[in-house]
Amino acid sequence: MICDHLRFKAIIMTEDVKNYTLSELKSALSEKGVVSYCACQIFNWIYAKRIENFDLMTDVSKETKSLLLENFYFSKLKILKRETSLDKTEKFLFELNDGASIESVFIPEGNRFTLCLSSQVGCKYSCKFCLSGSRGLKRNLTAGEIVNQYLAVSDLSNNPITNMVFMGIGEPLDNFEMIVKAIRIFTEHKGLDFGKRRISISTCGIIPQIQQLSKLKLGVKLSVSLHSADCEIRSKIMPVNRKYPLGELMKALKSFSESEKYPVTFEYALFGSLNTSKLDAQKLIRLLRGMNCKINLIPYNASQGAFRQPTLSEVEDFCNELEKAGLFYTLRKSRGQDIRASCGQLYALWG
Ligand code: SAH
Repeated sequence: MICDHLRFKAIIMTEDVKNYTLSELKSALSEKGVVSYCACQIFNWIYAKRIENFDLMTDVSKETKSLLLENFYFSKLKILKRETSLDKTEKFLFELNDGASIESVFIPEGNRFTLCLSSQVGCKYSCKFCLSGSRGLKRNLTAGEIVNQYLAVSDLSNNPITNMVFMGIGEPLDNFEMIVKAIRIFTEHKGLDFGKRRISISTCGIIPQIQQLSKLKLGVKLSVSLHSADCEIRSKIMPVNRKYPLGELMKALKSFSESEKYPVTFEYALFGSLNTSKLDAQKLIRLLRGMNCKINLIPYNASQGAFRQPTLSEVEDFCNELEKAGLFYTLRKSRGQDIRASCGQLYALWG
C-alpha cells in the first residue's frame, strides 16, 4: 500500500521534461537552485545527442541528476502501426499515455522529407470534407507529445526530416500555447536547431490566434485552408467561417503577411461541381489580387461528406483561369492515398 502510494506521488509530482522550452527549463531549475546553464546541457543531451536518461548525462553533477530524477520524466509515444504507401509516404499510428492515439505522416519527395504533425486528438471545427474532425475534439496534445512525433519518426526513419507541417489531425491554432512551445523547442539552437522557415502551421482561419502569432514573430510559415472565395459556400463546408468570416480573415492575413514580410499560402481543395467553376476561380482571383501569397490546390481526397473528386478538365480549367490572372499556384500531388495518409484522411482514436 505504502509503496503504491509513494509511486503515485512520484508520478503526479514529476513533469515531462519535453514540455519545457529552454527558457522555461532554465527558470524551473533555477527555482530549485540549479544554475541555468544546466538547462542548456540537458537540452543538448535530449535533442542534439538524443539521450533520454539523466543518468547518462555525464556533464551533469550527481546532486543535479537526483534532483532531475525527482522532478522530471521523459514521455514517449508508443508506436502501434507503421504503414508504407506505394509512393513511399509513411503513416505512423502512435498511442498516447491516456490510451488515445494519433497519426503522423512522413512524406519523402526528392531531397525534401516532410513530417506532417498532429496537434490535437480530434478537432472541433467540423469541416465537412475532413475525417479528422468527424468525432469532435477529445483533447489538445501537449508540447511533449508534439515534439515526440518528431523524435519518434526521426528515430524510425533512414532519412532526415527537413520540413515540418502542422497539417495532421487537429487545428493547431486551437492549441496555441502548446504549438508555440513545440516550435520553440524545435528551433532552439542548443537542441534540434530546426529552421523556422521549414515549419508551417496550417489553420482553418482562427483570427485572434493569427493576430497573436503575428505578435510573437516566430518566423514560421502560415497556410490557411480557404477552399472557397465565396463566403456562403465557405460557411457551408467550413462552419468556422460563420464565426470568422472571409472578409475579416483576409484583413488579418494581409496584416500577418505584411508584418512577417512573408507570403501566406492558401490551401484550396478542389471539389467537383462545388468550387471549381470559372466563376469560383474569378472570385478567388478577386479575393487574392494584390496580396503577397501562394495558392496550393489540392484535389479532394476521398474522405467523408457528399463531395466528389474534380475531373481532369475541372482542374485544368481552374488552373488556366489562375494562370491567365498571373496568380502563383501549385497543384499538390496527393500522397499516401492507398494507406489513407492524405489530407483529410487522418483519424484519431479514443475510448
Ligand atoms: N485544421 C488545420 C490543419 C489541417 S491541415 C487546417 O484546417 O488547416 C489539413 C489540410 O487538408 C487542410 O487544408 C484541410 O482543409 C485539408 N483537407 C481536409 N480534408 C480534405 C480532403 N478530404 N481533401 C483534400 N484536402 C482536405
